[in-house]
Amino acid sequence: NKFVYFFGNEETEGKNSMKDLLGGKGANLAEMANLGIPVPPGFTITTDVCLLYLEKGAYPEEVIDQINNAIIKLEGVTGKKFGDTENPLLISVRSGARVSMPGMMDTVLNLGLNDDTVIGLSKKTGNERFAYDSYRRFLTMFGDVVLDIEHEKFESVLSSKKKSLGATMDTDLNADALKELAEEFKAIIRKETGNDFPQDPREQLQMAIDAVFNSWNNQRAITYRRLNNIPGEWGTAVNVQSMVYGNMGETSGTGVAFTRDPATGDKRFFGEYLMNAQGEDVVAGIRTPEPISTLRDNMPEAYARLEAIYMNLEDHFRDMQDIEFTIEEGKLFMLQTRTGKRTAAAALKIAVDMVNEGLIDKRTAVTRVSPEQIDRLLHPTIDSQAEYEVVATGLPASPGAAVGKVVFTAEHAEEMAKSNEKVILVRTETSPEDIGGMDAAQGILTVRGGMTSHAAVVARGMGKPCVAGCGSVTIDMACSSFSVCDITINEGDYVTIDGSTGSLILGEVELVTPGVSGELDTLLAWADEVREMGVRTNADTPHDAQVARDFGAEGIGLCRTEHMFFGDDRIPAVREMILAEDTEIRKAALEKLLPMQKEDFIGIFKVMEGFPVTIRLLDPPLHEFLPKHDEIAEKLASLEAEGASTAEIERIHKILERVDSMEETNPMLGHRGCRLGITYPEIYEMQVRAIIEAACELKAGGMDIVPEIMIPLISHVNELSSTKKDLVAVAESVMAEKGCKLEYMVGTMIELPRAALTADKIAKEAEFFSFGTNDLTQTTFGFSRDDAGKFLPFYIENSILPSDPFAILDQEGVGELVKIGIEKGRSTRPDIKIGICGEHGGEPNSVKFGYNIGLNYVSCSPFRVPIARLAAAQAVI
Ligand code: PEP
Ligand code: MG
Repeated sequence: NKFVYFFGNEETEGKNSMKDLLGGKGANLAEMANLGIPVPPGFTITTDVCLLYLEKGAYPEEVIDQINNAIIKLEGVTGKKFGDTENPLLISVRSGARVSMPGMMDTVLNLGLNDDTVIGLSKKTGNERFAYDSYRRFLTMFGDVVLDIEHEKFESVLSSKKKSLGATMDTDLNADALKELAEEFKAIIRKETGNDFPQDPREQLQMAIDAVFNSWNNQRAITYRRLNNIPGEWGTAVNVQSMVYGNMGETSGTGVAFTRDPATGDKRFFGEYLMNAQGEDVVAGIRTPEPISTLRDNMPEAYARLEAIYMNLEDHFRDMQDIEFTIEEGKLFMLQTRTGKRTAAAALKIAVDMVNEGLIDKRTAVTRVSPEQIDRLLHPTIDSQAEYEVVATGLPASPGAAVGKVVFTAEHAEEMAKSNEKVILVRTETSPEDIGGMDAAQGILTVRGGMTSHAAVVARGMGKPCVAGCGSVTIDMACSSFSVCDITINEGDYVTIDGSTGSLILGEVELVTPGVSGELDTLLAWADEVREMGVRTNADTPHDAQVARDFGAEGIGLCRTEHMFFGDDRIPAVREMILAEDTEIRKAALEKLLPMQKEDFIGIFKVMEGFPVTIRLLDPPLHEFLPKHDEIAEKLASLEAEGASTAEIERIHKILERVDSMEETNPMLGHRGCRLGITYPEIYEMQVRAIIEAACELKAGGMDIVPEIMIPLISHVNELSSTKKDLVAVAESVMAEKGCKLEYMVGTMIELPRAALTADKIAKEAEFFSFGTNDLTQTTFGFSRDDAGKFLPFYIENSILPSDPFAILDQEGVGELVKIGIEKGRSTRPDIKIGICGEHGGEPNSVKFGYNIGLNYVSCSPFRVPIARLAAAQAVI
């Protein structure tokens, strides 16, 4: 078995397509070497080894042999020797999973240094200061990452050293000071671990490889995987690479760059670098880096080479790349290239631009933007009408605006978010430990760090607004407050941040949500060319219907007529109808509702301009409409106290009795849906009359409507056949009255397990099906839609369920019922039209599942229409 793959210009064994085995970083290092791009040589230990190690706690002998052989090869290629006192080979040891998990796992640099090799390094480079600077860095990293000693322990010794020598910057420390530091750091290691720092480079290497493998299962990596749906079974590879130095003086440096602007997507080389520094200085955001454009003036030759390489890489990978480079005494090396993380806006712009540049085709472009990113694009910005004062400006690190209460720790952010508080996480700088808090916050503000600092990169990936490097803010952790321009802001006070402009604003500012335009329109049009499934919307008002049309909805898949009864002007008539003791009273109440319903339908039909409109007949969970017992009882008491007439008191008393008699223990399983329509047929009769009258009136005006009348909550075919018979009679008589001939359809929701299981029988009566996966989830799991919140969060936190089944369709259980329903339905009515209108209709994974099992369309809330359009296209590709 091959466990170790060498890379370095002539000897490269891996390639780009081997990401599963070599991890993203390893595969791309090999690919760059294959392209003749200068990368420091090294080797990759495969993800298989990680899995073996994590399972058994040890490696097969073969692995050790292959690593030793690779070291020998590396010595040959570099002309240096591992552990040598004359010309020592120094290496970096880094993680590299299949997809990049920035900063989540461990890295060790300068490995191979010890009390002897540091002298060799010093002699060889003629730079004693550099050698000891590298040594003290290595001791810190090894101590922190491999030996698990708090970083702070090393930092505080470093700070006191600087203070005692009157130095402000690390670079002010001379060789002697760094030498002393190395001794002090070794003492920390001895004190903290009870052992001496391991001087043997092979032992160092073994320990570092173990540490990287173990870091696959550290808490922040686990959290990151959970948030990004990365399977734990993947494991990480380890990349061992010969060191090149960006900290060898003023002709050395290191930087990170993107081949296009990762915030806006603009086609411009974008990045930052630091002279005389090592990579971690840039990434950690401790020193403020220079923009890449100044490198052109500082080191024109290196810049020209870098420019040629980045263009080559983008051409080769046909996507925006995030690259890491080091210049060692004027010579350029590439340390990494990977697909660059980008904001939603940048993803969209880059996808559309690359099609126009001929780099990718439209189908590829459609896969380059995720439905979640589309969701983000529809997220809020500051209302242009709003008045506010910007008190400080940092870097616009991740776009979008957010409002929330200030918190200063990740834990606090998570706690507050649990109780539905919106928070802004304010930190001096973020570290990977903060990831849970960043996820919980609406937005992030940091005092230090550049556009490629941890906070910036992670926030962009999450689509969270982030303002980074807001230097005029001073945090006082002891007082839980920060100050800016002499103003003190306490924990819990509101602030607004705008990650598109870098602004910090005190208080709450009005936000607005943008619509679909420009590039989004273009990309969604390409998605429409690809997708095969229709996308409709759930809308109950002309306004919502219009919003959905603007987002590209091709009809209404669910118009919940009970929602039309929510308005203040209607509730009294609706209550009268529900509480009516006999048919006459009910009919009188329905008479009042008829014209209102008809107007609603006309409005919706007009907006939908001939697109199909599915109108669901009344399905009111009664408790949402009934007046509350306590309110009536109170009223009764006050009437009695006021000495109201006996007739009036009697009337209210009766209402109270009626309300009490109608109270249900499980209203979501109660007298709703077709059960109500069957027991009080006059309700559905009124609704069908309103629908047909509305359609006839529009037809007279030249608009052709084919209403789809939908009966809810069917469990037995008889419920449908008897309801349908009545309704068809009403429809026919209305048409006769109006002298108008219309096409219309009668179909049903499949939202109870029995309906799915007997869908063959139901399809004989139904002309279309719409899966109501909200109720189907409720009744398949036996979880009440109303109160599953009492235990579902616990279930998810403890992995009893992978996710909330009311948000993401449970494909295995509820999805299986949908599949059965489709198969059975088509067995008796092959051309039956089938859609889904539960909340899952706008959830990307569920949309893809729906396509795979043969749905004709999905229907979702207006704002999710663009997401569904894209997800439906991606399902095909
Ligand atoms: C459903 O049950 O999935 C559905 C769409 O209907 P409602 O949410 O109105 O019960
Ligand atoms: Mg339902």
